[in-house]
Amino acid sequence: MKAGEPEEFIVDGRRLDGRKVDELRPLKIEAGVLKRADGSAYVEWGGNKVLAACYGPKEIHPRHEANPKRAVLRTYYSMAPFSVYERKRPGPDRRSMEISKVTRQALESVVFTHLYPMTAIDVFIEILQAQAGTRCAGITAASVALADAGIPMRDLVPACAAGKVGGHIVLDLFDIEDNYGEADLPVAIVPRTGEVCLMQMDGNLTQEEFEQAFELAVKGCMQVYEKQKEALKKAYEKRGEEQ
Ligand code: UDP
Repeated sequence: MKAGEPEEFIVDGRRLDGRKVDELRPLKIEAGVLKRADGSAYVEWGGNKVLAACYGPKEIHPRHEANPKRAVLRTYYSMAPFSVYERKRPGPDRRSMEISKVTRQALESVVFTHLYPMTAIDVFIEILQAQAGTRCAGITAASVALADAGIPMRDLVPACAAGKVGGHIVLDLFDIEDNYGEADLPVAIVPRTGEVCLMQMDGNLTQEEFEQAFELAVKGCMQVYEKQKEALKKAYEKRGEEQ
């Protein structure tokens, strides 16, 4: 047992934060929160607070990065120094580079990049507060920001993790479960096609547990998807009223 590890993760069917095994943390999504960006979104998901801002399609610099066949999608995931318990050193590191890359790959499966050759579409994801599951919150926010910018897309990309704690398969791990649990399985999907555009795994699961966790994560994604659509509808209505 690691120092600080809880003796039990589930007591009387409830997790340490009071949730049921298949329950998401409270999720709030708002689109169009930043005036200077072409598109933006704010996501509060349990203790995670995430801002995403999108610019483009725009002229690409450096120019040698231009692709004559499609827009280049660039994603920048960054954690604020004050977002975690121990101050995070500012600037990119291995983890943020990895998360930027998997985020880009997930979003590339929906953005119609072929419509904008020789341009760049930049997406910045800023983690203001972290409580585990920030890559899922980041992808969720980023796809809303892209849609808010009016960039043609096949669909939104909702993301959600499932995992295993204290021998139970649970949805949407929070930090204690993430730190001391047995496995974490972040998933992102394209709901319209059923495509899986992100799947990573930390820890160990049997094949049966994996299937159960995967199915649960996809159900979580579908709940996130509804919130994403609601957020965009609300932002469009608000803009309509302002005009
Ligand atoms: N974390 C931290 N310091 C770091 C990186 C991560 O405290 O430098 C915490 C943070 O709460 C994060 C969690 O560890 O959400 C899990 O990180 P992981 O790499 O699994 O990615 P995530 O679950 O956030 O996508």
